[in-house]
Amino acid sequence: MSVRMTVLASGSRGNCTVLSSSGTSILVDAGISCRETIKRMKAAGEDPHQLKAIVISHEHSDHVAGLQVLAKKLKVPVYMSEATYQSWRKYTHDAEDKPVTLERREHFHAGRSFSIGDITVTPFTIPHDAADPCGFTFKAGGVKIGIATDLGYLPFSVKDHLRNCDGLVIESNHDLEMLRNGPYPWMVKQRVMSRVGHLSNSALAEFLQTDYDGNAAFLVLAHLSEHNNHPELARETAYRALGTRLSLFQSSALTLAQQDQPLQPICVG
Ligand SMILES: [Zn+2]
Ligand SMILES: [Zn+2]
Repeated sequence: MSVRMTVLASGSRGNCTVLSSSGTSILVDAGISCRETIKRMKAAGEDPHQLKAIVISHEHSDHVAGLQVLAKKLKVPVYMSEATYQSWRKYTHDAEDKPVTLERREHFHAGRSFSIGDITVTPFTIPHDAADPCGFTFKAGGVKIGIATDLGYLPFSVKDHLRNCDGLVIESNHDLEMLRNGPYPWMVKQRVMSRVGHLSNSALAEFLQTDYDGNAAFLVLAHLSEHNNHPELARETAYRALGTRLSLFQSSALTLAQQDQPLQPICVG
């Protein structure tokens, strides 16, 4: 049995990924509009009506911008932590400026696995400036996929969760020099660089060089900054880091997630 993954959008203007086992399809984050999500799913050959649930990592708008409309339209349950839900509600209002609710929602706890159909979801805490930010691993039919973006650094616990992944989507947000010299105000630069900000190319490279087990058949570099990174720089830095471990370099297909168009579906297993 295989797992199919389609990154519909990735970056500070919206994040959304479809993950499908043989029996279950779920959406991970809903950071682009409902309309755009459905359009991109169709373009990638995914059927929006097959979706069984939406799983949310944290309440930043680039992960939830389309959530309310999408959940209503698809009539599927939304899985998010209680703290994420409360924080999301605080900032989200309907057309009449009233606070919103999600009719069908399930609260998960970081560190506790749960099932959606035949997919086992394990949320885990990531260091990021949100109420209760989570990365995920998804297991179905012996295949394990890890998704970890929006994290200031890679603590031991996160590295541990990412062991033995057959596919890995991981943040390669910025080049430190570009960020330092770039257009962002100093406060924002400090936030991105902090321990609860975003993962730099070089922090990812260090992980790939030292801790990454080389198990994944594919790696997707995700959440690239449009102002503080170049796709080629992110790719080169990761290649170089993997290159010091040649067998891994050969076995891993390296892809860059994009902001404005879906990636080709990736099948593992
Ligand atoms: Zn975030
Ligand atoms: Zn984000």
